[in-house]
Amino acid sequence: MSLVIDLHLHTRRHSACSAIDESLLIDRAVQAGLDGLVLTEHHYQWTRAELDALVAQSAHPGFLLLAGFEYSSSHGDMLIYGLEPEAAKSFTPGHPPEVMLARAQSMGAVCIAAHPTRAAIPFDERIVDMPFEALEVKSVNLAPHEQRLAQKLADDLGRRATAASDAHRLPDVGAYATEFLEPVQTIEDLRNSLQRGTFRPCVRAGQGN
Ligand SMILES: [Zn+2]
Ligand SMILES: [Zn+2]
Repeated sequence: MSLVIDLHLHTRRHSACSAIDESLLIDRAVQAGLDGLVLTEHHYQWTRAELDALVAQSAHPGFLLLAGFEYSSSHGDMLIYGLEPEAAKSFTPGHPPEVMLARAQSMGAVCIAAHPTRAAIPFDERIVDMPFEALEVKSVNLAPHEQRLAQKLADDLGRRATAASDAHRLPDVGAYATEFLEPVQTIEDLRNSLQRGTFRPCVRAGQGN
């Protein structure tokens, strides 16, 4: 049984740029056919207690809700999974991406390059040598030509690809997602799956390629 998970989205509770009311999020995710969500606020990681409270308030008590965070480096954004919320606070924005990627991975995290070909905030040529576990190739914040470029970049670099909504509005939740081919119940499971490569971007109903 595979699981369809949205790996990248923001709520208004901890990301000022997001309009998503977190209390509506899980119902929306279930409606969109998702099996799980990973909240990735800008420079903040939800605590397990916060996640548990949100699930408890929803109509879906078994829903898979995990958290990483999104780090804005001097040249590109990255999604970091597998650290403690306290550790996330020590990742102050604006440092060189290769330095912070190495730091996160040395602490046991797995990292995905977020919208690596987005016009406003692209990585530069250093991405060639940066050992991301995957590149995000589809999201609502990547235009179609940027998605094609991102897929080509992943192919050229021999990196695996993920798709995620990067939702900042409720209707975008689940617009893109990643299918995991083995069970994911915890952030450790997610980290292991991302390291092993047992996942693939999935095309969602109503979304093109
Ligand atoms: Zn944002
Ligand atoms: Zn984001």
